[in-house]
Amino acid sequence: MTANVPTVTLHNGVTMPQLGFGVFQVPDAETTAAVTAALDAGYRSVDTAAIYGNEAGVGKALAVSGLAREEVFVTTKLWNADQGYDATLRAFDASLAKLGLDHVDLYLIHWPTPARDLYRESWKAIERLVADGRIRAAGVSNFQPAHLRRLLDSSSLVPAVNQIELHPGLQQNELRALHAELGIVTEAWSPLAQGAVLGEEAITAVAQRHGKSPAQVVLRWHLQLGNVVIPKSVTPARIRENLDVFGFTLSDDEMAAIAALDRGLRTGPDPDTLN
Ligand code: NDP
Repeated sequence: MTANVPTVTLHNGVTMPQLGFGVFQVPDAETTAAVTAALDAGYRSVDTAAIYGNEAGVGKALAVSGLAREEVFVTTKLWNADQGYDATLRAFDASLAKLGLDHVDLYLIHWPTPARDLYRESWKAIERLVADGRIRAAGVSNFQPAHLRRLLDSSSLVPAVNQIELHPGLQQNELRALHAELGIVTEAWSPLAQGAVLGEEAITAVAQRHGKSPAQVVLRWHLQLGNVVIPKSVTPARIRENLDVFGFTLSDDEMAAIAALDRGLRTGPDPDTLN
């Protein structure tokens, strides 16, 4: 089954499903089953990372799925310890080998780790991998405005995507505006705040009105803002539920009620200080 997921077009013309499947904190041995459930439900985009230790499990699910390579959009990420020009090239090879692929659709620098100041060298290596056809789109993750500007001071390759923590408790309006200006797609990680916002009255009230779950309302809010989302679940019913978000629309008032929940709530590390 293929769900009716819209795509976004990245600045280089590559298209990416607006809703994909995240596998952070899923043990490698359980990853193949989770990704298989997601592909069966109709997801066609999977977000992993070298540090998650489950690229092999993702690769197995892709291999047994029977889907053609071009039907699935695969993202993985360069880990912090592997930043630098040569180390990036080696880490990328290792990721591809684990995934069992000859290219990825999107490769991200996972964190800027600004005190180490290696992301510009890493980006040069990524430029080479793009030129070699091994990465269809290059992006970053957890980059703050200053990191994006510093990167673009030394490169003409604009990141296609910045994957950042974003949910109703942390709406990232400054970064979203800068992305719009630079032509960068905003991808939301922990789009459900790992569950922390699902009990909010503003969200449960909207959910009741639409006969949807709080998670579906939050995902719908993201999609209407134009964010790419990658909710994670290892629970088959939730995997299906999180994809069933295209048959209803939040009103302007409902969007505004959720906008009012913005309060600087970080569930993960602060990109300015993680090194
Ligand atoms: P999410 O916001 O996607 O939340 C996942 C949690 O919510 C799990 O505990 C899951 O439980 C639960 N959940 C999922 N669906 C529902 C539902 N319908 N109803 C109720 N609860 C639900 O958090 P993640 O941190 O996993 O973020 C998503 C993805 O973003 C990651 O998997 C990863 O791919 C990426 N990411 C990237 C980061 C980066 O630095 N670039 C950092 C963190 C995440 P259960 O699984 O038990 O069903």
